[in-house]
Amino acid sequence: AVRVRFAPSPTGFLHLGGLRAALYNYIFAKKHRGSFILRLEDTDQTRLVPGAAENIEDMLEWAGIPPDESPRRGGPAGPYLQSQRLALYAQATEALLKSGAAYPCFCSPQRLELLKREALRNRQTPRYDNRCRSLSEAQVAQKLAKDPKPAIRFHLEGEAPAFQDLVYGWNRHEVASVEGDPVILKSDGFPTYHLACVVDDHHMGISHVLRGSEWLVSTSKHLLLYQALGWQPPRFAHLPLLLNRDGSKLSKRQGDIYLEHFAAAGFLPDALLDIITSCGSGFAENQMGRTLPELITQFDLTRVTCHSALLDLEKLPEFNRLHLRRLVSDETQRRQLVGKLQALVEEAFGSQLQDRHVLDAAYVERIILLRQDLVSPVHSYLWTRPAVGRAQLGTVSEKVDVIAKRVLGLLEGPGMSLTQDMLNGELKKLSEGLEGTKHSNVMKLLRVALSGQLQGPPVAEMMLSLGPKEVRERIQKVLS
Ligand code: GLU
Repeated sequence: AVRVRFAPSPTGFLHLGGLRAALYNYIFAKKHRGSFILRLEDTDQTRLVPGAAENIEDMLEWAGIPPDESPRRGGPAGPYLQSQRLALYAQATEALLKSGAAYPCFCSPQRLELLKREALRNRQTPRYDNRCRSLSEAQVAQKLAKDPKPAIRFHLEGEAPAFQDLVYGWNRHEVASVEGDPVILKSDGFPTYHLACVVDDHHMGISHVLRGSEWLVSTSKHLLLYQALGWQPPRFAHLPLLLNRDGSKLSKRQGDIYLEHFAAAGFLPDALLDIITSCGSGFAENQMGRTLPELITQFDLTRVTCHSALLDLEKLPEFNRLHLRRLVSDETQRRQLVGKLQALVEEAFGSQLQDRHVLDAAYVERIILLRQDLVSPVHSYLWTRPAVGRAQLGTVSEKVDVIAKRVLGLLEGPGMSLTQDMLNGELKKLSEGLEGTKHSNVMKLLRVALSGQLQGPPVAEMMLSLGPKEVRERIQKVLS
């Protein structure tokens, strides 16, 4: 049976790169009627981020790709947190020690640090010199008496086995000569990534390891561990990286790539799943607008290429609108969506909603199709009416009656079926018809009347978003 896993370290919240790895695993599992497992690799206790474990599982659920087995859901191969599986790593280490494939290392942190510095001084990659490999049994016994909890290292020996990666093809990475023997169990009893990953993939019955290509070079080391433990390794498929459009690393510093951010801004999970798969490979065609069931049917692992996927987040609003349009054409979905947005608005602006009419289903439904970051502060004008009177209208306040009348006239006519550009043209004409009044001042007046702000989206965009009824009411309120 197909069993795959997404194995993030809870050292940060779930972001788009993680979502993509999880999604490919999910799709592959569903395609083959297998299981999708979430395993949290929390063995580096110094790097844990509070709330990250919960966030990762919450966000997978939000995205609509919940794991079949996980820390929260449990399952037959649990526990699903590595920190709760220490006995299994100890057991495997014991077996490796017994067969001579592993040995205790008594080197002090100071000695290791010196080795590292010396290598760096000689412009070499730091590597352990395998000194403790050659300790005799008597020496080990003697040292154990003083240091009963040494770190354990894996004796890297012989040629790394070649393996056929399902994406990258035949691979072999010379590990023995390059890296020095790696620590597999630290003196605090916690395993390092390599051992924990191999032990868990084995005991959890993982059939295919689909993970980021940054782990490709570790695979030879993992295969040597499988060999030493006498276990059958899974198949491997390394997934190309997700990068920014310009090929740079998808960095958490370059803006918001955390799922939480997209969820709070009102983006649809479907839009995110669509954009992160349509920029990569694995599907018959590169089209946009696919839903999760379609992704599952169309996916084919043999179509995944080694090219990085370049993500253009500026296209996300377009993806979002596409999926919104699909959803609102369905009665039930539409009602759900309106409800969700009403709740988001209520949460964001609750105390400021003087006028409940902005939560009308009809209004909300219309707004939904126009924008996506609907609850961000720049769009607060959609949901809260400004408290402005003539006094706030600036230099053209004496002309306000005329301007208001003309704008209202514009709304009566074909005004609201105009595009933003056309509406802009009409507003320009309107200012020109007013002797001695600058266009910029007219626009400022309208902006303040509609939003109470001096800055924000273009005036024409605000008018089209609010719709004629709301524009009329806001203008009339200023006049009253
Ligand atoms: N914990 C590793 C990570 O955070 C998992 C790598 C793997 O899937 O083997 O990416």
